[in-house]
Amino acid sequence: MARAGRTLRGCLDMLGRAIEPGITTRELDRLAERYIREEGGTPTFKNYRGFPASICASPNDMVVHGIPGKTRLREGDIVGIDVGGTMDGYIADAANTFPVGEISEAARRLLQITEEALMLGIAKCTIGNRVGDISHAVQTHAEAHGYSVVESMVGHGVGREMHEDPQVPNFGPPGQGPELREGMVLAIEPMVNMGGHEVEIGEDNWAIYTEDGSLSAHFEHTVAITKNGPRILTIVEVEGA
Ligand code: MG
Repeated sequence: MARAGRTLRGCLDMLGRAIEPGITTRELDRLAERYIREEGGTPTFKNYRGFPASICASPNDMVVHGIPGKTRLREGDIVGIDVGGTMDGYIADAANTFPVGEISEAARRLLQITEEALMLGIAKCTIGNRVGDISHAVQTHAEAHGYSVVESMVGHGVGREMHEDPQVPNFGPPGQGPELREGMVLAIEPMVNMGGHEVEIGEDNWAIYTEDGSLSAHFEHTVAITKNGPRILTIVEVEGA
């Protein structure tokens, strides 16, 4: 899973360099698939429950699950990229929301707070804590900045399957839910809306949009619970750390 995670990090970093005004989400999908396969992995999302691509690409008021296509990114957009990779039968899952060219200060702030909420949730990933401690940390940070968290989609356990128990909501009281044990691996993925938390599904039956049209950001890491604390598998790890 750590190998799969490293591949996803490399893939997302590559996409971050490729994203610029004028590129289509389909081009990003092709770059991602090629990268994962060259690293010896398989794009987990492709054909998952019929999903036709290797990444989800979700611009602006699209929360998640965007099918890549002809959509051409424009200066000032934000775009959430979610990607899964399977290596030797084990899966990692990661997402990042990127700016396209220069973005507004308000959009930049949304990205920053959403990523911070993710990291605060990850900090709760210690043995003996509960899933609700993660949820509460995420929600508290997002709402403290006037944003809302999407409630109808949640993080999840990950391993040989992309979606395993337990579910990891981005909201709720601390101290509740399943206990975190050594060796568990969770995909933690706050989806934070600038406006209300309500979402609706698009005509393609995949894309999820904010109901009020407000911007939405999504960051995700795959995190192992270890006796040394949380180990983020979808970042570049420092040798010997
Ligand atoms: Mg996920």
